[in-house]
Amino acid sequence: MDNFTLNIAFAGLAALGTLAGGAIILAWPKAHPTFLQYFIALGAGFMLAAVFLEIVPESQKETINALSFVLGGYLLTHFMEHVVSQHFHFGEETHTEVMIGSTASITALLGLGVHALFDGASIGAGFAINSALGFLIFMAIVLHKIPEGFTIASIMVAAGRTRTVAFGAASLVGLITLLGAILAFTTSAAAPQVLSASAGVLIYVAATDLIPEINVNRQVMIPLTVLLGVLLFYFTRSLVPG
Ligand SMILES: [Zn+2]
Ligand SMILES: [Zn+2]
Repeated sequence: MDNFTLNIAFAGLAALGTLAGGAIILAWPKAHPTFLQYFIALGAGFMLAAVFLEIVPESQKETINALSFVLGGYLLTHFMEHVVSQHFHFGEETHTEVMIGSTASITALLGLGVHALFDGASIGAGFAINSALGFLIFMAIVLHKIPEGFTIASIMVAAGRTRTVAFGAASLVGLITLLGAILAFTTSAAAPQVLSASAGVLIYVAATDLIPEINVNRQVMIPLTVLLGVLLFYFTRSLVPG
C-alpha cells in the first residue's frame, strides 16, 4: 500500500475514534469518570513518549528550525484554547451554567477544530516522511481521539443542544482530522515544519490539557497508567520496522 492510502486509512481511523467517543458519551451518559480518566492517562503517556522520543528527534533531522516550530505549535494551541475558546477542558463537560445560552460551545468547537486539524496534519506529515513515523504518530493521536469525541459531544449536551447536534459536532471534529491529514500529505514540501509544529501542539495537549484533567484524581494508579502509556509506546515502536 502506498503512503497516501495509508495516510487516508489511518487518519480515517483516528477520525472514527472521535465519532466513537461522541457515541459513547451519548449512549452511556453516566460513564464512570474514573474509567474515562484512565483512558486519558494512557493516551497522555503514549503521546508524551511519542513526542519526545520520536517526533521531535525526527523533526530535527528534517529541519534545522524544528524547535522554533515546536514552540510555535505550543503557543498557537495556548492562544486558541485561552483566547478564542472561552471555556475548554478535556473530559466530560459538566459546567452547564457556563454553556447554556452562551457562545462558549461554539468557540470550544472552533478551538477543538483547529486542534483536530493539527492532529490530522501530524499524521499526514508523518506519512509524507515515512510510513513507520506516520504509524507511530497515528497511535499517539488515536488514543486521545475517544476522549476528544466525548469532550465535544458533552459540551454540546451541556449547552442544551440536541443529541444529533452533539454527534454532528463530534463528526465534524473527526472530519477536520481527516482533512488535516490530506492537506499535510499533499503539501509534503512543508512536512518538516508541520511535523515540528504538531509536536508543540501535542506537548500542549498531553501536558497542559490531558495531565491536569487526570490530576484531580489523587490515586497512584493514575501516574502508573501514564507510565503504562509510555511503556506501550516503547513496545509499539519495537514492533514497527525501520
Ligand atoms: Zn467545563
Ligand atoms: Zn485531538
